[in-house]
Amino acid sequence: MIIVDTSPKQQTKNYVNLGLSIVSKITNAQIVSYREKIDISQEHEIGFSIFYPLHLFNALYFIRNNGIEPLKSRRKNCFLTAGGQGISNLRCTDDIFDHIFAGEFDYDYNMKNGKYNSPNRIWHFASEITSQPEINGNTAIIELTRGCKSKCSFCEYSWVHGGKYREKDMDFVYNQLDYVTHMGIGRVNFTSTSITGYSKIFDLYNSCKEMGLKILLADYPLKDIRIVIKLDRSVNAFKFIHIFPESFDPDVRYSIGKAISNEDLLDYISFTIQHYNMITITLMYGLPNDDYNKWYNFVKDVGILKKLTKHPVRIDLKISDFEPCNGTPLWDVPEVDFTKKNEFIPQWINALQENGLMAINKDTSLHKMCGLLGRRECVYKTMMTLRKRDTSITDALLSSFHNGVNRWLHKQQCDEFLSKI
Ligand code: SF4
Repeated sequence: MIIVDTSPKQQTKNYVNLGLSIVSKITNAQIVSYREKIDISQEHEIGFSIFYPLHLFNALYFIRNNGIEPLKSRRKNCFLTAGGQGISNLRCTDDIFDHIFAGEFDYDYNMKNGKYNSPNRIWHFASEITSQPEINGNTAIIELTRGCKSKCSFCEYSWVHGGKYREKDMDFVYNQLDYVTHMGIGRVNFTSTSITGYSKIFDLYNSCKEMGLKILLADYPLKDIRIVIKLDRSVNAFKFIHIFPESFDPDVRYSIGKAISNEDLLDYISFTIQHYNMITITLMYGLPNDDYNKWYNFVKDVGILKKLTKHPVRIDLKISDFEPCNGTPLWDVPEVDFTKKNEFIPQWINALQENGLMAINKDTSLHKMCGLLGRRECVYKTMMTLRKRDTSITDALLSSFHNGVNRWLHKQQCDEFLSKI
C-alpha cells in the first residue's frame, strides 16, 4: 500500500504531518508525493492524505498523472481511500474514492487478501493515545491530546474530526520525554488543541524543565488564563503567543462557545503583552449576528494597552473567514457576504491605524497583507464548493486545476472551476 501526501508543503524543511506519519506506521505504507509517478500495476491500494480541503485537487492530479481511472464505478483492481483533516465533505467525492473517512484512522484497519474486509469499520476513535514521538531535527513532536473539551459551535475539529476529548497518560508522556532527551533532543512540540486543558499540565511543564527541554508552543486557550499565568514561562521556547477570540463582540463569543468577557479578554491581552514580545489575535469574519462596531471599539482598548506598555511589543490582529462546516451546529448559516466584507475591510484597517495597531504607511492591498485579512472571494467560494456540494461537481473537479494547487491559488483557475459548477 502507498499513501499519497497531497500537501504542497511536503518539500519544505521542517514539514511534519503527524497524522500521516501515524497512519503510515500502522499500515506499513510507503509515503509518496502527489507529484510522483508510480508503477500502478504494483499498487492495488492507494491512500490519500488530505490535510487541507483544497489539496483534494492534488489527489486528483496524482490520479490523472498516473493514468488511474478516476470514477470508482469504472475502476478495476485499484482501491482508493481518502482521509485526513481536509476531509470535510464525504459526499462530494463519493463517486471517486472507494472509501472516505473524516476523523481518526486507527487500529481497526483490517486487510484480507489485499482487500478491506470491513470497509465500514476502517476508522474509529481510539480510546487510548499511544502514538510514538516524531523526531524532526532537534525537535520531538509528541501527541498529547485528541478531541477538545470545548465545543465551539463553528469548529469542525471538535464536531467532526476530533471526537471525544482524550489525553495521553502522563507516565507514558514522561517516558517519551525521557527517551527523546536521551536522544539529544532539546525541544518538544506537543500537539493538542488546548494544552492547558491537559489534566497534568503542571507535571508536564515540570518534567520538561527537569529534563532541560524547551516547549514549542504559542497557542493557549482563552478560557484558561489563570492556568497560563501560573505556567513556568522559562520552559517556553517562543516569546510570542497566539489567541483566537474569533470576535470582539462578546455576545457572539458567548454564542459560539468562546465564553470570555471583554474585561477578561483585555486582562489576558494585558498579561501577554507584559510577558511576551508579540501577540497574534485571530478573529473570524462572517459569524452570525456579529456587530463590527463593537470590534472597532474594542480595538481602541487594545491600542491603549499597547501605548501603556513600556517595552516594544507587536500586536497583530488577523482575520480569517467563517466557513460553515458540515457536522457543526452552524453548518447551515449563510456564508461570508463579500460585498459586506469589502465594506468592512477599509473601516477595519482605519480602526487599526488610528489606534496604533497598524503602520499608517503600510501597503494594505490584499496581496500585501499576507493573510491578515482572510481569503480572496474566489478562493473562499472554491473552498465552500468543496465543503458543501455533492457528486454533481465531479466533472468540474476532474477538469480543473490540471497541475494541482500550490500554496497560492490563482484567481483565473478558481474562476474557471466555479464557472463549471
Ligand atoms: S477551543 Fe479550538 S479546537 Fe476546541 S472547539 Fe473551540 S475552536 Fe475548536
